[in-house]
Amino acid sequence: MLRIGIDDTDSKRTMCTTYVAAQALRELEKNGYRGADLPWLIRLNPNCPYKTRGNAAVCLTIQAKPEDLGRIEEIVVSVVKKWADLESEGTDPGIVYAWAEQAEHLRETYWRALWEILDPKEIRSRCDSLGIRYVQMKEGRGIVGAAAAVGADPESLKTFEAIAYRVPEMWGRERLVDEQSVLEMDGSLALYTFDNYDYEKREVRITPHTPCPVLAGVRAITPEHAEKGLGMVRFYEPIEFHVVFKTNQAGDLHYIPARISDMKPNTSYIVTGVVSSPPTIIPGGHVFVKISDGTGEVTLAAYEPTGSFRRVVQNLVVGDEVLAYGAVKLKPSGPTLNLEKLAVTRLARVTVKAAPPCDICGRRMKSMGQGKGYRCEKCGIKRPDKEPLVVDLERKVSVGVYEVCVSARRHLAMPLKLKSSLRHYQHGQC
Ligand code: ATP
Repeated sequence: MLRIGIDDTDSKRTMCTTYVAAQALRELEKNGYRGADLPWLIRLNPNCPYKTRGNAAVCLTIQAKPEDLGRIEEIVVSVVKKWADLESEGTDPGIVYAWAEQAEHLRETYWRALWEILDPKEIRSRCDSLGIRYVQMKEGRGIVGAAAAVGADPESLKTFEAIAYRVPEMWGRERLVDEQSVLEMDGSLALYTFDNYDYEKREVRITPHTPCPVLAGVRAITPEHAEKGLGMVRFYEPIEFHVVFKTNQAGDLHYIPARISDMKPNTSYIVTGVVSSPPTIIPGGHVFVKISDGTGEVTLAAYEPTGSFRRVVQNLVVGDEVLAYGAVKLKPSGPTLNLEKLAVTRLARVTVKAAPPCDICGRRMKSMGQGKGYRCEKCGIKRPDKEPLVVDLERKVSVGVYEVCVSARRHLAMPLKLKSSLRHYQHGQC
């Protein structure tokens, strides 16, 4: 089996690597080669500064013999040259060809590309030392994503996405999709599909907002449900073709458990901490709160687009214990973790002092001054020894796990509802 990694073929103004890879697969099939697995859509470090949008790369798996390699290379290179937006600055395609056994030696590259920022030079020499062939166009930065996609751990590919592509005449125009049909599809396949619709923002989420060839993508926990979901959506424009990808999306794979002092910018973490200063809200509706874990302090940020999630952050108090998921950015005010999910694991007590009731009549007593006890206005008795009652205030947040709204979610972040769907499905209970 030959794995072919492709990356960095698109720009902000057009194209999408999934489309280029899908065209390469079609061309290979026309030439008699057969796919040995669904194409893989691999998301990498979402904090990568070189990404165009969602930091995606693709790996095709083809049944082939060593003597086919030259012909396969020719086909793939000509497809990439035909479709990649090579005129745009920053489109620097990379293609990697590795036999399945060689690809396993790129496993570490895959994991590191999810967590770190890698140097293309390092990837080139890794491929050279493994005898893995590659092609770089222009600056060839795409070799990083292409090698990582080829080395992707099959165990980490737990979800699927059925992507429909537009006919070229429609690229750049408004996408003609029936919102009601998306709602109906989501309603009937809610257990198996995800991120179809943002109910909080009332927004269709299966269609991108970019001038690329993608019409819509339905994400699901099985290939059948992804395809079925796509088939249920009504489009008022033609579909050129559609492809089902196996993906590493929604697996929470980008998070590294860490202590605050170990966190670095452009990396996504899970960190445990205690709220160390009260939340603040700034104009624009962004909410910030600091946590510390004994090794340092970091600001958690819930920006306006994260929606009602901000209310949870806003209602934290000093002493609450949390598990925060998000990406670290270096801000002038210090390191900030842009929240994607938040588990509130323990709530601090918030108390107020209140006058105690009278032991005789039960009415609330009156204070005789700070530390001087209480008297009852009805019975007339004085109790210099009486202490104030300590009353717990009801908290506006509960212990539990919270996530940002659908439209603010990272491709790699696992929606909360998916955890149980995946568990059930993997145990054959759905
Ligand atoms: P789209 O999602 O629309 O396909 P994109 O967001 O994937 O676009 P690309 O145009 O592929 O963006 O650009 C990402 C670039 O960053 C590629 O050159 C890829 O090789 C490189 N890259 C990806 N992950 C890493 C990483 N962890 N370290 C260094 N470079 C990376």
